[in-house]
Amino acid sequence: MIELHGNTTYAVCLECGARYELEPIREAFLTCGTLPVCRTCGGIVKTATISFGQAMPVEAMRRAQDEAQACDLFLCVGSSLVVYPAAGLPVIAKKSGARLVILNRDSTDLDAFADQVLNREIGETLARVVAGADS
Ligand SMILES: [Zn+2]
Repeated sequence: MIELHGNTTYAVCLECGARYELEPIREAFLTCGTLPVCRTCGGIVKTATISFGQAMPVEAMRRAQDEAQACDLFLCVGSSLVVYPAAGLPVIAKKSGARLVILNRDSTDLDAFADQVLNREIGETLARVVAGADS
């Protein structure tokens, strides 16, 4: 698992990267209105997700690109495939010889580039895949 856009189950300091659990931050905000500030450096603490305007994690992107180049099958699930650089990963995989399958309720700009496009509900479709159904 490579978390390109971070993780919502904890928080980090935007300055020094120190990790914080969410519950104490939430409790301090609810009881005192305290905004989360890093105890080490005074930086802003927010959920460990990548928001628009923040840089993508360099090491995670490098690993994702390496895996995309090396894979046999690239499965895009639940992505509009419009936000780069992550939306470029299926293109890297396809150009490196992988089969590309896109599973998304709506069409995407990469549909014509894919080997298979499934415009269906994700949960229902993946449940059928896991169960071994072929349609
Ligand atoms: Zn800090």
